[in-house]
Amino acid sequence: MFRYETHMHTSEASACASSTGAEMADKYKAEGYTGIIITDHFFNGNTCVDRSLPWDKWVEGYCKGYENAKKRGDEIGLDVFFGIEYGDGSSDYLIYGLTKEWLIAHDDIMSLDLPSFLEFVRSEGAMVIQAHPFRIRDYTRGIIHAPRFCDGIEIFNASDAATPFNERAKIYASWYDLPGTGGSDSHNTTTSFHAGGVLSPRKFTSALDYAKAVAAREIQVIDNAE
Ligand SMILES: [Zn+2]
Ligand SMILES: [Zn+2]
Repeated sequence: MFRYETHMHTSEASACASSTGAEMADKYKAEGYTGIIITDHFFNGNTCVDRSLPWDKWVEGYCKGYENAKKRGDEIGLDVFFGIEYGDGSSDYLIYGLTKEWLIAHDDIMSLDLPSFLEFVRSEGAMVIQAHPFRIRDYTRGIIHAPRFCDGIEIFNASDAATPFNERAKIYASWYDLPGTGGSDSHNTTTSFHAGGVLSPRKFTSALDYAKAVAAREIQVIDNAE
């Protein structure tokens, strides 16, 4: 089985992360992963890229963590794919299948409300997984669920392993018959590093390939990470 990280951050783009894309790539390689998908906090989340920049410059900065991880991954033999974590303060969505070029060309997406945004990216061929749908932290404004606009649900977030949130997510996914997946939500290589993610019987060729495998219920969730 091939081991993949599906949800992780880098210090180039996420204000709450403290390891660079290259450092994260090294760590995941050492932990035996075949590949990782970088999902930094987007424009409406905890980004560390200056929001006053022109849109294309903001996107360039946002993609740096991914690009540095990819460069490192190419050197050490780790597949690195691109995703985003879009958040509205009451819910977070991992989106797979977009690219830097697509983001630069769509400079009006932040004017869309949450359902319109999710509907639009899906119409463009991307896929949506709701991250930790029952997480409550001090920054959580409320809990929003959008099952109509999701291709799957993160039913095991390794950063929430000590909470009841994952059990609630599992029940929620089963209510709507949505496939489940897992991720670490790691923000550095040390204190908050959690070796979660998924196992796959085959290698993925892209982030979208991973999301399709989730929808086809071909993956196995790593749900024993702490
Ligand atoms: Zn974060
Ligand atoms: Zn995250």
